[in-house]
Order: sequence, then C-alpha cells, then structure tokens
Amino acid sequence: MMSTRQNALKASDVALCGLVCLAGVAVTFLVLILFVRSEQRTVNVAFQLEVDERFSRLQRRFNTQVLKLDVVRRFFINADDVTEKEFLGFVTPLVGEDEAYSWVSRILEKDLQAFRAKALRNGTSDFSYHEINPDTGERVPLTRRPEHWILLYLLKRDDVKIIPGMDVLARPGRQALMSKARETRQIVVSQPLKMTNGQSGIFFVAPVFQELSGVPLSDDNLQGFVVSTVRLASLMEQGIPLPSLQRLNVTLSLIDTQHQGENIYQSSAPAAPSALYAQRLLKVADQNYLIRFRPSSTFLVANSYTLSISLIIVFGSGLTLLLTLMVYLLITQRARALSLVDERTQDLRLLNITDHLTGVYNRRYFEELMERLLIEANVQYRPLSLIMFDVDHFKQINDRWGHQCGDNVLKSLCARIRSATRKTDLLCRTGGEEFALICPDTELNNTRLLAEKLRALISTLPFDEVGQVTCSFGVATWIPSESFDAFIRRADSAMYRAKASGRDQVQLADMEQIG
Ligand code: GH3
Ligand code: MG
Ligand code: MG
Repeated sequence: MMSTRQNALKASDVALCGLVCLAGVAVTFLVLILFVRSEQRTVNVAFQLEVDERFSRLQRRFNTQVLKLDVVRRFFINADDVTEKEFLGFVTPLVGEDEAYSWVSRILEKDLQAFRAKALRNGTSDFSYHEINPDTGERVPLTRRPEHWILLYLLKRDDVKIIPGMDVLARPGRQALMSKARETRQIVVSQPLKMTNGQSGIFFVAPVFQELSGVPLSDDNLQGFVVSTVRLASLMEQGIPLPSLQRLNVTLSLIDTQHQGENIYQSSAPAAPSALYAQRLLKVADQNYLIRFRPSSTFLVANSYTLSISLIIVFGSGLTLLLTLMVYLLITQRARALSLVDERTQDLRLLNITDHLTGVYNRRYFEELMERLLIEANVQYRPLSLIMFDVDHFKQINDRWGHQCGDNVLKSLCARIRSATRKTDLLCRTGGEEFALICPDTELNNTRLLAEKLRALISTLPFDEVGQVTCSFGVATWIPSESFDAFIRRADSAMYRAKASGRDQVQLADMEQIG
C-alpha cells in the first residue's frame, strides 16, 4: 500500500514539475516576444529618424543648387556685358567641390565675328569657335546655323580643359535640355549625363532673358544660359558624415516614363536583408526623383539586440530550471516526510498489537483476530482451530533462576514455536506464561498433531540456563455458530485437563458446546 502511494506521488510530482517548467518556459517566451516587439519598434524609429535626417539633407542640397544657379542667373540679368573677370569674381565663392558653372551665350550667325572680337577685348583667353562631333568626340569647325549657343565662361575645380567658343547646340543631350529651359523659361534639371571629366553628373540650366520694363518676355530676348553641373555622387554624399553614410543604403531613380525604376545612383553601403524600407519623393525644379532607403549591415549591427535575446533566454531557462528544481526538492521532501509518518504509524500500530517482551501478538489483538476469523469462518464454512498452552511450574523457574531468566525462557519459547509453525498460524500471548496459537483452515486432527510437535519441541530441547521446560496444551476446533467465549473456554478447559493429568501433554477439547 505504501509503495503505490509513493508511486502515485511520483506521478503527480513529475506532472507538477513539468507544469512549473512549462510555466517558466511560457513566461520566458512571453518576455522574449514583448522584448523583441519593443526592440523592433525602437529600431524602426531609429531607421525612420535616420531616413528623415538624410532626406532633409538631400532636399537642402538639391534646393541650394537651384538657388545658387538662380543667383547667378539674376546676376546675368541685371548686369550687361559680364566680363570673364566679373564672372569669375561672382561665381567663385559659390562653387563647391565637384561643381562647375558656365555661361553660354546665344549668338546669331551674323554676330559671330563681333562677339569674338568683344570676347577677346574683354580678356577672354584662348577663344576659338568650334563644336564637338557627337560621333567621334573630336573638335570640328562650327556648322552654319541661324544661331549658336557658345560656351564663353567656365569655372570648375578639376583640370579638364575646355576651350571657350564651343557651340553647345552640337551636343544633342545638352541642346534638348537647354531648349526645354528656353521654352519653359524656368530652371530645368537634367537626367544624369556624362560630364566632360567622364563622371556622371546632373546639369542645372537656367535661361537668361533680357528683361525690358513694360515689354513681355519674348523668345528673342534670350541672352543665353547659366549652367551648373554637379557630380551626382557629390550631390548625394557631400557634407554627410561617414558613419551616417555607412548606415544607409540609398538609391536614386527618376520618376518618368522613360527611366521608371532605373537607379541612377546607388550608395556604396550595400543593403542588408531587412524588412526596414522607406522611400521619399524629391522634387527639384522640373524633375521628380524617388529616393529609396534601406538599412545597411552597419545600421543593423549598431541596432542589434541579439545579445539581449540570448541573455533573456539564458536567464529565463536558468530561472525555470532553478524553480523546477526547488519545486522538485520541496515535493520529494514532502513525500519523504509522508513516508516517515507512514512508517511511524506502522510502528505504532505494531507496538499496539504486539507484546513488547516476546514480540508475538498481545491479548487485545488476539481477541480482535479471533472475532474477525470467526466471522470469516462462519461465512466461508472453513475450519478454525486453536491451541492454548501454559508453561508448567513457571513460578518455580522464576523463583529458582530469577525473573530475568524467566523472561528469557518466554522469549526463546516463542521463537521456537514461530520457527516451527506456518506464517498463517498466529501466535499470541494471552497471559503471563499463557499463549494461544490460532490455526486458520486447520482440522482438529492436524491441530492436535501440530500441538504434539510443539510440545516435543519444547520439552526435548533444554533451554539456556534453566534446562528442561514443559508446557500443557489444550486443542479445540471451532464448532459452527459457537460463540467466541465458548470456543475459548473449551480450549482453556482442555488445557487445564492437561495440567491436571500430569502436565507436558496435549488434551483435545470436548466436541460439544459448553453452556
Ligand atoms: P502451573 O504449572 O500450574 O501453571 O504452575 P505455575 O507456576 O506455572 O503457575 P502460576 O499461575 O502459579 O504462576 C505463574 C507465574 O508466572 C507467576 C508469575 O510471577 C509468573 N509470571 C507471569 N508473567 C511473567 C513474566 O512476564 N515474566 C516472568 N519472569 N514471570 C512471569
Ligand atoms: Mg503455568
Ligand atoms: Mg498460568
């Protein structure tokens, strides 16, 4: 019974420990989800901030470019006959790195001679009319046209030499762009074009019309164009700190039917695989650009929270393990305490039903046993026999050898009898030196034989110190429906008959019910 109880405890213990472990894992998982969500939000905000900052920088940069060009345009409108020196003096402070500014004059064919003479007079050096063959890229003499767009002044920061006097009309890309500026009378911005130094750049073109008071602007008032070119990469990157450059992958594309989706610029930091993405529309003069932003691996590493995730997992599982271990210890301690109580209860019960000197069942338990066995025998029609015996002249043993010796005799006697009987036979001490052996399922004759065997076992083998000890035996088998008292009395009187008949013998009880 005890072991099943322990087993049941173990099963429930395991379930409880499992539950605690599961709860720990669940809480860890929940914390992890909440943490990752909040971190994702933080990273997203950081990305949006970075994008906003970069976009406003780019917007400023492009707008400044347009503004500067407009300032130069106004200079040309307001001053007549700008000399090279004046041009350089005005524009030089405006020119940044990777930028160039030029003045292209509109000259009618008939005015070519006079224009050249004036240019040379104004101090323009190296002036010579020419154009660039768009197929070969070589300098060729001027083609006859009704008008020419002659590059007169140029200020740039690189060493590529351009000789004044080039007709820009011979260059189809620039000619189209400038025609558009002329038609719209507005600043126009080119798609990325190859600049004279071979790099990709954007051209900003502003038409300069002679403004005569009271007269509406006419196409014939066109004086020329102010053109600024900027290296595209410089437009996109200049003035932006390197760490910021490394954090974002930026691409620029034009929004028009011709170049839809085609990137005209791609930043050097490659895009890292991530769901983070932003795009902004940038309007510069007549041009619309789409700027796409993606995080680079530098950004993701700087905003990484994998270490925190690992820490949460380690702490969470450690705590779960500790909690489970504690619950397990508590449970096993409780189980141990319970089994100890069980053991003690068992001990107490044994103490209650046994005789402390001999260890055999006591008188109280003898009566309890007999009552139970009689009920069983009654129901099952089974035989039940009883051997009652009493040590002969025990008083003399006590007197002669002492009380301690008498005790030892009682102990050895019980040991002998238990060694010679079956487990089912129940030995009880019913009085000082009086005993009863209950023999369930045993007929009278067999019980008598057993009693004879026990008598011989006691009388033939001498006991330590005291030598021979004998007992007188009374044997009775229960008569169905006989009462407990009557049954005992019959066995008892048989034993007294054995005493009276000279002791050390077995007497059978009468088979008739008494009283
Ligand atoms: P009989 O043959 O007629 O039974 O004689 P007896 O001396 O055995 O019977 P009696 O009833 O005169 O004496 C029993 C004695 O047993 C008296 C008592 O002191 C002694 N006795 C009872 N219980 C114990 C015990 O636990 N230990 C010891 N040493 N003696 C006990
Ligand atoms: Mg006696
Ligand atoms: Mg007696």
